[in-house]
Amino acid sequence: MIFEMEIKMSESPQSEKIWIDGNLVGWNQATVHVLTHTLHYGYGVFEGIRMYNTDNGPAVFRLEEHLIRLFRSAKILGIEIPFRKEDIFRATLETVRANNMEECYIRPLVFLGDDKRGLNCQGAKVHVAIAVWPWGAYLGDEALSNGIKVKVSSFTRHHHNIFMTKAKVCGAYVNSIMAKMEAVKDGYDEALMLDPNGNVAEGSGENIFIVRNGKIKTPPVSAILDGITRDSIISLASEMDTVVEEQYFSRDEVYIADEAFFTGTAAELTPINSLDNRIIGKGNVGPITKKLQTMFFEALRGKSKKHKNWLCYLGTQAYPTWRQDLNY
Ligand code: PMP
Repeated sequence: MIFEMEIKMSESPQSEKIWIDGNLVGWNQATVHVLTHTLHYGYGVFEGIRMYNTDNGPAVFRLEEHLIRLFRSAKILGIEIPFRKEDIFRATLETVRANNMEECYIRPLVFLGDDKRGLNCQGAKVHVAIAVWPWGAYLGDEALSNGIKVKVSSFTRHHHNIFMTKAKVCGAYVNSIMAKMEAVKDGYDEALMLDPNGNVAEGSGENIFIVRNGKIKTPPVSAILDGITRDSIISLASEMDTVVEEQYFSRDEVYIADEAFFTGTAAELTPINSLDNRIIGKGNVGPITKKLQTMFFEALRGKSKKHKNWLCYLGTQAYPTWRQDLNY
């Protein structure tokens, strides 16, 4: 197991520089002490963002929204990030530029240092790192074009009073990893998690949508991460004159749906072919899923006039002015 992990680690995509606490350092220099608080207890927050190449050069998809969520996640945990949003915004672009990439995944991470040991981590030093690496289709190119096999997880998604599901908290992903590993070991591509009431919640790292009789449904944000891709799909669906209903639904409603798909920064828009071995619809990519996927890829590649504001071009000098009246 350890040997296997070492091989996989060395095969992991890398980049040259990582931004940490205000400085760009070499990939191998971005290290922490073994007593780093977040390493022990998972008390930290992070983001997952993508940059795509477009006809006008590389552009980060919905960077402002991701950074707002990062700061909100920190607020939920009571962590004070020692940088302003505009600093992290600039640092993100600086990191991508320093690594000379046209497309990449971007991982800002806020974590507590090694100066506190116990659970009362008040006053612990807060660190921020931003790493980028090349990352193709999370579930594979084949998954994007042909869809995936999903299993309802035996692990329940967090109740929002157990784990704050609006925050993208490092430790919350223990639950996701258990679900993902179980699904993959059982021969599926991804897990679908139910909330503590038995309603459909989300994938291990994705939001879910279903289509039935031309109507699109997605669970409300109470027990799930408020996905930025989810939000993008809701906007795109409204342009197709299709309202997305935010409603609870059960796993058997997914079994009898005409179409289903996952959304997420990593997974983008991945069609679901089957759930628990029940073929969904015709078992291929349904027309509404296909249309939304096309619109989504057009938007992130800068081909949609309507959604130019979702893109932050790498060469931009125009930084957003964060609204002071909004309580992020
Ligand atoms: N749910 C979970 C649990 C996730 O980890 C993610 C990925 N961030 C999502 C949903 C999708 O969110 P987004 O579209 O903002 O990436």
